[in-house]
Amino acid sequence: MTDNRMEKIVSLAKRRGFIFPGSEIYGGLAGTWDYGPLGVELKNNLKREFWRTLVYDREDTVGLDAAIMMNPKVWEGSGHTQAFSDPLVECKTCHERFRADHPEEIEEHAAGHTKKKEPVSWTEPRQFNLLVEAKLGAVEGEKTTVYLRGEITQGVHVNFKNIIDSMHRKLPFGVVQVGKAFRNEITPGNFTFRSREFEQMELQYYMKPDERSAKEVFDYWKKERMRWYVSLGMNAGHLRFREHEEDEKAHYARAAWDIEYESPIGWKEMEGIHHRGDWDLSRHSQFSTVDLTYFDEEIKERYAPWVIETSGGVDRALLFFLLDAYSEQEDKGKIRVVLKLHPKLAPCKAAVFPLVANKPQLVEKARKIYSDLKKHMVVAWDDRGNIGKRYYAQDEIGTPHCITIDYQTLEDDTVTVRDRDTMKQDRVVVETLSSYLESKE
Ligand code: ATP
Repeated sequence: MTDNRMEKIVSLAKRRGFIFPGSEIYGGLAGTWDYGPLGVELKNNLKREFWRTLVYDREDTVGLDAAIMMNPKVWEGSGHTQAFSDPLVECKTCHERFRADHPEEIEEHAAGHTKKKEPVSWTEPRQFNLLVEAKLGAVEGEKTTVYLRGEITQGVHVNFKNIIDSMHRKLPFGVVQVGKAFRNEITPGNFTFRSREFEQMELQYYMKPDERSAKEVFDYWKKERMRWYVSLGMNAGHLRFREHEEDEKAHYARAAWDIEYESPIGWKEMEGIHHRGDWDLSRHSQFSTVDLTYFDEEIKERYAPWVIETSGGVDRALLFFLLDAYSEQEDKGKIRVVLKLHPKLAPCKAAVFPLVANKPQLVEKARKIYSDLKKHMVVAWDDRGNIGKRYYAQDEIGTPHCITIDYQTLEDDTVTVRDRDTMKQDRVVVETLSSYLESKE
């Protein structure tokens, strides 16, 4: 696969309605992206699969959806007002800013100046806080500065007591959340990879403090999260674990491993698994003065639980799923682009075509099949041009099956179902269509 896969995905995403630059007609807003009609389906499918695996398929987890804006003291308690920062350096020639810990970007920028025979010098690195501020309140002058959450994690920890009191959970148990986070990234870029507004999908797993079982739980979640990406079709050969260096770990982390994806911009973090110890609950107990310890009935002891966290980026995973699924094949002298998305992720599950658009009987039959299927799944309709072109158009957006209604359909109520990956065609009885398609997921 060529190195310009990223440009191809950016262009396909725009052209076919997956992802658009945010506020584009006003010149855009750096680090923001809008998901189009197909993008929102893909994103919802991804989040639904996450929720299904982490909440519905398990007995030791519950879900939560906390507010984006929180009392500013939360961020003091969590340590983010102090430590949630990246080192920033500024180019003295053009005042462009970069992350001091991203040497490759700095070198590339310096090389640009050198080429133009311009001087290259940098300011000393300084810590730049990533929290995005907002003003809340109706009265000018009395507005409170709040932060849009920099990670979705804290909404879970501040609700630990509410969850224990309302759901009567015994340790160990996990709380799952999916939602938006905001960061004043110094250098947003590489499409959605580094955005200023993005979504995270997380699990906070509470357990009794014990180093040996913490290691077991940590290893279990590392493997389980890797398994999830592979189960949704990501090529295992493009995935690896990487342990954080001591000086790389976040302020709360006792142990940190990333799941990385081999992308056209190099091996990049997709998800982090962190041992947060009792950092969050102890700090919030201290700052809120509400006791967040847990009383363990079995051993009649009170303690601050430890947390093992898995924290993935929805947008990053979506980008990596797109890159991983992208393929180009030679077909009768033409390049056929196929997005080999797992059927569970594909934005449209099937497309329905009347063989020709000018035969009312065929169109009517096809419309009936289309509207019946639409009750069960997302289905596309296409009656333009020849069937070959319609197949190509669906392959490019990853639709696993195309259904053609032809003259034989009018006689025996069967249709042709063409498979995206094998291009093989089956003859299927109309009545069994939705179960046929569901069985292919
Ligand atoms: P990075 O080192 O790339 O800045 P991070 O280590 O700060 O990421 P975490 O705080 O561990 O990231 O966040 C968990 C996940 O959230 C990341 O693995 C990533 O998938 C996602 N994420 C973090 N920052 C961004 C961003 N600016 N844009 C898109 N996704 C992000």
